[in-house]
Amino acid sequence: MNRPPAARLRLAIRGAVQGVGFRPFVHHLAAELQLAGWVNNGPQGVSIEVEGARPQLESFLLRIAAENPPRSFIQSLEASWLDPLGFTGFEIRASEVHGDKTALVLPDVATCSECLREIFDPANRRFRYPFTNCTHCGPRFSIIESLPYDRANTVMKSFVMCPQCQAEYDDPGDRRFHAQPNACPVCGPRLQLLAPKGEAVCSGHQALLETARLLRAGSIVAVKGLGGFHLMVDARREEAVRRLRERKHREEKPLATLFPSLESVQALCEVSPLEQRLLSSPEAPIVLLKKLASCDAHVTPSVAPGNPNLGVMLPSNPLQHLLLAELNFPVVATSGNLTDEPICTSEEEALERLQGIADAFLAHNRPIVRHVDDSIVRVMLDRELVLRRARGFAPLPVLVRGAAPGAQKVLGVGAHLKNAVALGVGDQVFISQHIGDLETEQAHAAFRRVIADFEKLYETKPEIIAADLHPDYLSTQFAQKSGIKHVGVQHHLAHVLSCMAENELPPPVLGVAWDGTGYGLDGSIWGGEFFLVTHEKAERVAQLLPFRLPGGDKAVKEPRRAAAGLLHEMFGPPALGWQDLAPIAAFSPAELAPLKVMLARGVNSPWCSSVGRLFDAVASLVNLRQQNHFEGQAAMALEFMLEGIEDAGHYEFPLVTQDEDPPLLLDWSPTIAAILGDLKSGASVGEISARFHAALTEAIVETARRLGQSRVVLSGGCFQNRYLTQRTVTRLREEKFQPYWHQRVPPNDGGIALGQVVAVRRQGG
Ligand code: ZN
Ligand code: ZN
Ligand code: FE
Repeated sequence: MNRPPAARLRLAIRGAVQGVGFRPFVHHLAAELQLAGWVNNGPQGVSIEVEGARPQLESFLLRIAAENPPRSFIQSLEASWLDPLGFTGFEIRASEVHGDKTALVLPDVATCSECLREIFDPANRRFRYPFTNCTHCGPRFSIIESLPYDRANTVMKSFVMCPQCQAEYDDPGDRRFHAQPNACPVCGPRLQLLAPKGEAVCSGHQALLETARLLRAGSIVAVKGLGGFHLMVDARREEAVRRLRERKHREEKPLATLFPSLESVQALCEVSPLEQRLLSSPEAPIVLLKKLASCDAHVTPSVAPGNPNLGVMLPSNPLQHLLLAELNFPVVATSGNLTDEPICTSEEEALERLQGIADAFLAHNRPIVRHVDDSIVRVMLDRELVLRRARGFAPLPVLVRGAAPGAQKVLGVGAHLKNAVALGVGDQVFISQHIGDLETEQAHAAFRRVIADFEKLYETKPEIIAADLHPDYLSTQFAQKSGIKHVGVQHHLAHVLSCMAENELPPPVLGVAWDGTGYGLDGSIWGGEFFLVTHEKAERVAQLLPFRLPGGDKAVKEPRRAAAGLLHEMFGPPALGWQDLAPIAAFSPAELAPLKVMLARGVNSPWCSSVGRLFDAVASLVNLRQQNHFEGQAAMALEFMLEGIEDAGHYEFPLVTQDEDPPLLLDWSPTIAAILGDLKSGASVGEISARFHAALTEAIVETARRLGQSRVVLSGGCFQNRYLTQRTVTRLREEKFQPYWHQRVPPNDGGIALGQVVAVRRQGG
């Protein structure tokens, strides 16, 4: 190759990919696309790294998934885009025999094409059987009680195989040879439809037909899936979706949908080739897709109110395939829980906790060992970005190269919201399924259960626990009470380290960590931080100019409070009397009085440097939202206003130096002043939003310029914002910087646990 390669693509592939001509196939494909690199077999599957021009790499990724050799099948494929190393030629490397022997627990795998054909074939003995699976597909993580992965160690132990199933299981030439969850209508699990009080209504295929009838009639049905119950309702019926929202106490947060087929998705949403791969992949996540104009007529708008995107998934188990084929219209399929609680996994739990929510329960007698939510992925800048790692991904490890020999086993316990934990063993960091917000007793219990479960599955005890610094986080307190050596890792540094790790970035880098809330080293609320990470240390070199948040935690739910804090900071007490401003008008006189006192005296008004709260304040000033019904709602609303806006310029967002040296301060006040001016002159909310987003981007570019770091890492919940991330990456590239963002691990707090593990590694743990 004459020109330097544009990128390196790494693929970690699990499944039957060994001894079936997979490596020669990879070699041929790489040669055809003129890609350099290597492929090898490891203890846990096939690893591939290829370098070359971007379009060829994209084509390689899509074709690997689509054209793999006949006897091979892929159960998991994770792609990472990395900096090129300058490979020449392509080689089939010797198999890796060393490395960690940690037994790999496979995630649950979506129904394969052969099983799918069987359940729709009237001549097949598994016709309409909702628990059909084979060695290629079916439940894994959600049914394993302990290792090794044998039927006796799964929930299938209580089902004795009939002679026909046993014959398949014993025949090395059969697709079900040693398929642990193997089952059929004669010997396997069975569906049952339950009324709200638990009385059996009907069973078998009749239960499925009756469920379909109920859904068509607008009822809410709790349906037991692989990793827990879903609440389903006809996505076309406004009054039904509203009823679900009321009962579930979920006012406006978008609901995920389950579609009957890829074609039905393509009729209502834009689907790129990469998004199509994701929808049809063995992981079968929820994919965030852009709605087409036709969508609103078929999916009622209150499924995702005011949102240009829709969370869409395709059936991932036979039960969903059969049900959706019967319905032939999209349904809402949201976690079977009350808002903020973990998903229900057993009938008893579902009947109790979903009482008053579900009109009926489609259950079955195959138990679920551990909860696994649906994963969420979106495509950003032509790459996958995992926003929630759960079904299909958990508990697979992320490779983090460079662990010292004999490195200690580290458990990262994550943060508070969107909690997940991570266990570092050698070069592998096993990341747990999404656990959720540790706000309720059920969530606390799930958190402790997942940790115990990880230790048991991997037969390993952590030697160090890494936790957040926030003293009130349950995860922090867990570490303190564990009796194991524990270390505190600053929240935003953990964000940056997680992003560095998955991009294989050596120091030095400039890390940008922007999110809603995190405990700062000075005890204040951070969330607009820049770190210079070198081999020796990590220093905070810049931050958002702090402002007060009147009411503290209350401000997270009320963007008007962040706005009041900013206005008070800029203009002093009189600003709280400016009734022509939306945030001020949103308070009653009785609410304003204590607010004035709080801000004047600095009582119950912690300092924060959070970009998330700045987004809230701007959304409040333009009167988009004064209250948040879910985390990040105001910021999302502001992002959605950008639809159709071309470049509208940017506000000023200068960097100011303090008396002493770092950190540099990013001064938002000229931006706020300009927004007030634009509001007076009648600029549209879309224009204001565009100028605000662009101002933030320019502030990052200017900070990178001042600090003279070429590699810039973007992490934290703010970078779930597609526009902010895309624009920042584009502008940094234009200015000759190298930007990096997340791929396999969420930019939100779901990625914190990985960063905590990496932080301990950096300290030589
Ligand atoms: Zn199968
Ligand atoms: Zn059987
Ligand atoms: Fe965070």
